[in-house]
Amino acid sequence: MGSGAYGPSGVQGQSPWPYLNRRHAMLGGLNLLALAGCATAGQGYDAVPPLAPVRARADRIFDVTVCLRPFRAAGPRLDTEQIGDTLVVHNYGHGGSGWTLSWGSGTVAVRKAMAGSPRKVAVVGCGALGLTSAILAQRAGAQVTIYAREFLSQTRSVRATGTWSPDSRIALTSAMAPGFAALWEEMTRTSFKAYRSYLGLPGSPVEWNDRYILSDVSMEEAARNSPKDPLGFAHFDDRIRDISPDYEVVPQGASPFPTRYVRRSSSMMFNIADYGHTLVSDFFAAGGRFERREFFAPGELAGLPEKVVINCPGYGGRALWKDESIVPVRGQIAWLIPQPEVNYGLYYHDVSVLARRDGIVVQSLAGGEMQGYGDDHEVPDRREAEGAVAIVAELYARRWGFGRV
Ligand SMILES: Cc1cc2nc3c(=O)[nH]c(=O)nc-3n(C[C@H](O)[C@H](O)[C@H](O)COP(=O)(O)OP(=O)(O)OC[C@H]3O[C@@H](n4cnc5c(N)ncnc54)[C@H](O)[C@@H]3O)c2cc1C
Repeated sequence: MGSGAYGPSGVQGQSPWPYLNRRHAMLGGLNLLALAGCATAGQGYDAVPPLAPVRARADRIFDVTVCLRPFRAAGPRLDTEQIGDTLVVHNYGHGGSGWTLSWGSGTVAVRKAMAGSPRKVAVVGCGALGLTSAILAQRAGAQVTIYAREFLSQTRSVRATGTWSPDSRIALTSAMAPGFAALWEEMTRTSFKAYRSYLGLPGSPVEWNDRYILSDVSMEEAARNSPKDPLGFAHFDDRIRDISPDYEVVPQGASPFPTRYVRRSSSMMFNIADYGHTLVSDFFAAGGRFERREFFAPGELAGLPEKVVINCPGYGGRALWKDESIVPVRGQIAWLIPQPEVNYGLYYHDVSVLARRDGIVVQSLAGGEMQGYGDDHEVPDRREAEGAVAIVAELYARRWGFGRV
């Protein structure tokens, strides 16, 4: 068995890659094509800090969860409609970007909801979008009640990876509305700033960490073999370069990883257990009310005492609003027992690993952005989970001599 950590490489320097795209996306649909186009040799890089290995073993999987991304080809629904004397502001359909965009999307929705300065506002839904909309409406001066079938801990939102991924399955280039790219940028920048106030808090609800992309073949070859994107998912990373750290090349042997090619960047991460708890506490501390309630038809919203409703049902909007523009995109996570000493993420052989405080997320991303598209099957697949963990185990066994599954 090798040592538990790997020391600094001793090589210092910076390696900005000015033409790198998809910086954020290694855990939510890595675009190797973009990476391949940007690699440069011979530049410096920051020293690799000590890295503890992930104890990747099937017997350390403590949960396997499945979630459905509520994808809409046109992008999230943010329009309003009148049902009787009730104004409904929609805020659903955020694909693989719901946590990331929540503050920005909520800001857009709350602006519309508060236009008539209502004293009371209802929010339908208690996932990422519902909670942030509710908190923003409170900050705008409203008394807020959340009505939802499930409280946060039972929602699909808690089963997410928990990484900054603003344009992961957010729209199709061919179907989005003309102004959507600018709206997306506004939402992304608003969220990015909002998350700053959750950094550095006890419990680390939100933090930054390093991400490593590992490959045995060159990025060019990996790009040639990467899955196709026949639908043309929209990506806007060029619009937010100024807030996205670059990837740098880490020379072979300068990191503990055994692969020939290593790239590194940094990204924001949401420790959803603690972050969710923080949001819920903030909501109640500001006088918020929660009422467990299931709605079966839009007309029922007009029966609520609040005459302004922000509608955040996520994938539930497909049934509630009969909105078939919402497509399920299934994703599964194998949860390994948390290791406080592991504080990075990696991507290797179509498997992503993200060491959160509340569990180490191991996820197969085979098939790229088309993985799980149109699949509403929410039963966990243990064999898939063990397969993903086995790939990670093989990686660590090559360097550290353990990791057997
Ligand atoms: C595997 C996976 C990984 C992901 N990783 C990330 C990530 O790293 N970063 C990121 O930004 N995004 C990620 N996402 C996407 C993100 O999880 C979603 O976009 C987000 O959770 C959607 O939140 P929501 O609040 O709209 O919906 P939900 O979390 O589904 O919440 C909906 C709420 O509405 C309520 N509701 C629904 N229907 C009704 C009804 N009829 N009556 C009453 N209440 C109702 C529910 O009870 C619930 O409270 C991931 C998704 C998946 C599947």
